[in-house]
Amino acid sequence: MHTNFTPEEQNFEQEVQAFFKDKYPNDIKRKQDHAVPLMKEDFIRWQKVLFAQGWAAINWPVEYGGTGWSTVQKYIFANEMAKANAPAIVPFGLGMVGPVIYTYGNEEQKQRFLPDIAASNVWWCQGYSEPGSGSDLASLKTRADRDGNEYILNGTKTWTTLGQMADWIFCLVRTSSDVARKQEGISFILVDMKTPGVSVRPIITIEGDHEVNEVHFEDVRVPLNNLIGEEGKGWTYGKVLLQHERTSIAGVARSEYRLNRLKDKIKNANMTQPSLQNDSNFLRKIAALEIELKALEYTELRTLAAVSVGKAPGPESSLLKIRGTEIQQCLDELFMEAAGYFSLPYVPNQYSLESKEINHVGFGSDSVSSLQYFNNRKASIYGGSNEIQKNIIAKHVLGL
Ligand SMILES: Cc1cc2nc3c(=O)[nH]c(=O)nc-3n(C[C@H](O)[C@H](O)[C@H](O)COP(=O)(O)OP(=O)(O)OC[C@H]3O[C@@H](n4cnc5c(N)ncnc54)[C@H](O)[C@@H]3O)c2cc1C
Repeated sequence: MHTNFTPEEQNFEQEVQAFFKDKYPNDIKRKQDHAVPLMKEDFIRWQKVLFAQGWAAINWPVEYGGTGWSTVQKYIFANEMAKANAPAIVPFGLGMVGPVIYTYGNEEQKQRFLPDIAASNVWWCQGYSEPGSGSDLASLKTRADRDGNEYILNGTKTWTTLGQMADWIFCLVRTSSDVARKQEGISFILVDMKTPGVSVRPIITIEGDHEVNEVHFEDVRVPLNNLIGEEGKGWTYGKVLLQHERTSIAGVARSEYRLNRLKDKIKNANMTQPSLQNDSNFLRKIAALEIELKALEYTELRTLAAVSVGKAPGPESSLLKIRGTEIQQCLDELFMEAAGYFSLPYVPNQYSLESKEINHVGFGSDSVSSLQYFNNRKASIYGGSNEIQKNIIAKHVLGL
């Protein structure tokens, strides 16, 4: 418990703790605790539990099904969620396209899309990046040409996370090339993945997982009323979304949970595991990380306070993204170091929950630390690479 919480906030904290104790499904928790990859059904079932409680659309306005929570309540919730090791909400619907639709969409679009997003009935993915257009996103080439009441889309999106599971994709596309700046003439369009001409091809990442994809559009016909806001203004909407994305990527509460697990691991080291309890160099690294994490927590709280009074997170979202992901990757390294050679043999098929026991190779969960390490190389790339975030800070904070 936080000593500065008011009695009401303390009650809320207890309510949230009770919720995670009673309502967080045991089988999903077991998978999470043993680093077994979750299936789409697991995510949806969990998000529906949150929805039934009224706690899925945390940041949305109350009129669209949001919680109306204060910054402190959101902070408490994020912390308890991390402590319970519950799955993070998949961001594409609730965290990304939902806010764009309720902010810039028309009434018909709000009614058509928001209830299904809130209830996790529809799975979304994000179609921004293209081959050759990642950091320089405004150079994107996927075209949407008007034809009567429809747009015709042609082009390729890449790195589309969980696109293989998605029902809908929100895209930034070029609707005009006759522009003074390349940021103009880009539009924000929603596409049903079942539309003829949409195809998804897997990209297998370094740790052997299928998390990202290429999405191809070949003469895909999309109704004009799937355009959000004004044609040609998609860059503005897409940028707001990215700032929210970067703030959430920081993952402070989740890193605190992992840091505590690392400390427990060292305290409980036994004969079969290399003892780090007396390794002053290793303990120093943990202490340094903990100080960095505490500092980041306060920066995040300041940002959340601004967001809760209606401000979009500005360049501070870039600060949060850089430090948050550096800390996550430092944790990955420390877990690998703590596990020593036990971290090496990661064999995905070992993680079958059909048997009663989870058969890890090596020493307990140590053998997934390499999976986590390789998978999380992405954190300093996605949501806009950390180098690009440094450019944003140089321009908008330092004025260079
Ligand atoms: C696992 C994963 C999931 C992703 N999920 C999605 C998704 O769901 N949807 C989506 O749209 N995108 C997604 N992305 C794409 C992600 O946003 C891009 O990878 C990212 O923006 C970098 O673009 P790029 O890969 O084209 O690299 P590039 O832009 O080619 O950059 C290559 C390198 O050059 C550096 N660099 C480039 N320009 C500059 C500059 N001006 N100054 C300094 N350094 C520079 C970069 O930092 C990087 O290190 C995902 C990426 C990954 C890795």
